[in-house]
Amino acid sequence: MAKKKKNLTTAFGIPVGDDQNSQTAGDRGPVLMQDVHLLEKLAHFDRERIPERVVHAKGAGAGGYFEVTADVTKYTKAKFFSDIGKRTEIFARFSTVGGEKGSADAARDPRGFAVKFYTEEGNYDFVGNNTPVFFIRDPLKFPDFIHTQKRHPATNLPDPDMFWDFLSLTPESIHQVTILFSDRGTPATYRHMNGYSSHTFKWYNKKGESFWVQYHFKTDQGIKNLTREEATRISGEDPNNATRDLYEAIERGEYPSWTLEMQIMTQEQAKDYRFDIFDITKVWPHGDVPPIKVGRLVLNRNPVNYFAEVEQAAFCPGNLVPGIAASPDKMLQARLFSYHDTHIHRLGPNYHLLPVNAPKNAPESSYQRDGFMRTDVNGGGGPNYWPNSFGGPEPDPGALEPPFEVSGHAARHPYTHPNDDFVQAGDLYHKVMTDEDRDHLVGNIVDHLGGAQRRIQVRQTALFHKADPDYGRRVAEGLGLDVKEVERLAEMSQEDRAETTSQ
Ligand code: NDP
Repeated sequence: MAKKKKNLTTAFGIPVGDDQNSQTAGDRGPVLMQDVHLLEKLAHFDRERIPERVVHAKGAGAGGYFEVTADVTKYTKAKFFSDIGKRTEIFARFSTVGGEKGSADAARDPRGFAVKFYTEEGNYDFVGNNTPVFFIRDPLKFPDFIHTQKRHPATNLPDPDMFWDFLSLTPESIHQVTILFSDRGTPATYRHMNGYSSHTFKWYNKKGESFWVQYHFKTDQGIKNLTREEATRISGEDPNNATRDLYEAIERGEYPSWTLEMQIMTQEQAKDYRFDIFDITKVWPHGDVPPIKVGRLVLNRNPVNYFAEVEQAAFCPGNLVPGIAASPDKMLQARLFSYHDTHIHRLGPNYHLLPVNAPKNAPESSYQRDGFMRTDVNGGGGPNYWPNSFGGPEPDPGALEPPFEVSGHAARHPYTHPNDDFVQAGDLYHKVMTDEDRDHLVGNIVDHLGGAQRRIQVRQTALFHKADPDYGRRVAEGLGLDVKEVERLAEMSQEDRAETTSQ
């Protein structure tokens, strides 16, 4: 039996008689204004693009589930963690950071690793990266930093001078720079990389006891990276390699998964810890805080429509459910604002109503009303204010975060332990990396930093030297710099180093 045909309509459901020939005055005459089907089609097409994400523009996503594998109820009262074996539906999006929406997946760049958990207490968003640290620890520096990673204002080209100028004047970036220029800066695919919270978060249990935590989603596929040469080739041959890989693996039924490991620190441990546990440029050494396995993330569903799900997906680190709270990490504090704000700009004030963002398992009942694209019943005839005596939704004190103490003077406080900044980059270089890792790291840096002015090369190489003298020497030799000059600069304070290399 022939399949019943579906009739074409306008966006308003009106049948369309002809979708190939515009209405004209005579067979060679001008097009008529009354061809409303043509006008509607063009006007919609003209508005197909929404603002590109200012960072993390290029991405791929998939649906799946999270399953609890260990009892963590003594640390968090979050209901999606309440029982071993409990599953929660999720949607994940992976991305590069600096490139535009059409840029190559294999670019040297951190990767975004965002997961939306549709829990029964509302949506919980994990908005991490594939690196456990970040370049800066104060959000005031973020827009400047991102400008340097994008295009030069005059040439509209990526610019090694501004890239390395900023980093060399921002020594706390050295740890992340070392990870970025290792082969982990070019993961083979989204399936072959880890996801880290990078920030410290707070977990609290039913008794109100709280803990500081860091999340590590460890890939079950194993870490696989590209060399610089492979990344360059793939960027040309298949700029969508990671997007393709994720989609095709799921189509084949090879569902990628990650094991969630948590580092959990008691308040007691945190009190006198040897560095600031809220500093996002640092990791918590595994030896001090061994990670424990608590769950598994599985991606088993490709999006039905890329725009509807992946492009419109909006993750916000401020979407935290009872049992999980923010920490004083300054970068996190700013992200609590910035993500929501950027989504309102990109998708409109009612972006929470889009199916991918809507809280599937805990329907919204707020007093927010109206605004562009309010596509639900907008609260119907119910009260639109609180308090009210008409049976509107009530706050639940059980959802409150336990109170916590803060102290000190309100001021613009500089970071007070700058000498810490080189320790972990040095550990990574000499304790963790293999000879091959170090060869690739140095080669990748020389290739990129070689494009910057010499004074910037010297200033940045002094930072590598401070992390590890062998690291600095090898980069200096690769760039043909005077090793003694690099050593001299490395001995200076950051201010003197900046001054000496300012011209
Ligand atoms: P460990 O020896 O316990 O951990 C080292 C970790 O480094 C590994 O578990 C792995 O993390 C990660 N790693 C391995 N190779 C590379 C690489 N080429 N580039 C980046 N990371 C790599 O030591 P510590 O915990 O004392 O940490 C030592 C250094 O390791 C840190 O200074 C940091 O640079 C790096 N590191 C530490 C992490 C942490 O959370 N403690 C996480 C990632 C890196 P993974 O298992 O997550 O893949």
